[in-house]
Amino acid sequence: MSTNQKTIYLDYAASTPLDEDVLQAMLPYFNEHFGNPSSMHHYGQEADAAVENARMGMAELLNCGSKEVIFTSCGSESDNLALRGVAHAARGTGKKNHILTTPVEHHAVFHTAEQLAALEGFEVEFLPVDEYGRVDPDEIARRIRPDTAIVSVIYANNEIGTLNPIAEIGAICRKKNVPLHTDAVQACAHLPIDVQALKVDLLSVGAHKFYGPKGIGALYVRQGTAITPTQTGGAQEFGLRAGTHNTPLIVGMTEALKLVREKEAVTQQLSEYRDRIIEHVLAEIPDARLSGHPQERLPNHASFVIKHVDSNTLLMLLDAQGFACSSSSACKTGDPEPSQVLRAIGISDEWAKGSLRVTLGRPVTLKQIDRFLEILPDAVARTRALEAS
Ligand SMILES: *Cc1c(COP(=O)(O)O)cnc(C)c1O
Repeated sequence: MSTNQKTIYLDYAASTPLDEDVLQAMLPYFNEHFGNPSSMHHYGQEADAAVENARMGMAELLNCGSKEVIFTSCGSESDNLALRGVAHAARGTGKKNHILTTPVEHHAVFHTAEQLAALEGFEVEFLPVDEYGRVDPDEIARRIRPDTAIVSVIYANNEIGTLNPIAEIGAICRKKNVPLHTDAVQACAHLPIDVQALKVDLLSVGAHKFYGPKGIGALYVRQGTAITPTQTGGAQEFGLRAGTHNTPLIVGMTEALKLVREKEAVTQQLSEYRDRIIEHVLAEIPDARLSGHPQERLPNHASFVIKHVDSNTLLMLLDAQGFACSSSSACKTGDPEPSQVLRAIGISDEWAKGSLRVTLGRPVTLKQIDRFLEILPDAVARTRALEAS
């Protein structure tokens, strides 16, 4: 991949650049205040105060209690702790063995559920989704059983941008007394996250999707939720996640989320840019379709499938022209298998191999988008010509 400074980055769903103010907030905790927050002395207490202050900040932003915020190393770890932790606890106490999830989850949930089935004998049931990747809450009501350990439904899809009606699903799960987890790693960057309004029991976030550092995430765990730690050792994180706290990254994540919430106006701007991209691509590129929901989607997310296109070729041509985009998911790069998400929404492999994801962020300008829209039709035509030859 080119490291050309002039390359326009249009892959904010894969990762975002660290906010300069976040970096400044983190720096003193690498060297000046380096103590182990679990130590009794002054160095430790200083670091502990920073961690607990950050925890209160996260709690305020998510609208929960500070004891309900568990710091993890990333969104993937939060997903793992939620699924494994609740599944293990539910089997221990209630012989519950059924996991209800969707075929459009991020791999951090999907592969975890698959492994719980393959290695530990959990029964994993995948809910049907519509052509946009949305779950019908009534289907959840119908499929919850007395032995259901956990329901896990992604809030905003990373590949196709579709949003799920989490609050409605939450109301159903609460009535049936089954814990609901949602992967809000994408959603958190763009939508208000209020765990009370969403009625969730567990919610995953990861800082590098909202201009925070990589290597840090959090899991909201509603008070009273039965959960077994997946990483054992010291008593950090209320015994749910052993390991010395990463003070600078914890401070950075909270600062990043605060700044994202303060800059909410950006979201409106991005959704206008997104709509412009969608409109132009569908009008100007033959045999291109939007993937995911036309309205109920992330404000920064435009995703397509384009017939007779190999997305890897297209992405290389775009990169050479100075635009960094993605196929449906960054995690799939180099993976010849078509995306399980695109399959689940009924897109044939012939179309799915030509997926294109354009995701926007704060620094993107209208001028850059118009330049992108100008060169895209030709890049697609050239990709098709290469395919045909
Ligand atoms: C990026 C992402 C993850 C994984 O988060 P990491 O912090 O990169 O481990 C999980 N779920 C969704 C929806 C994501 O977009």
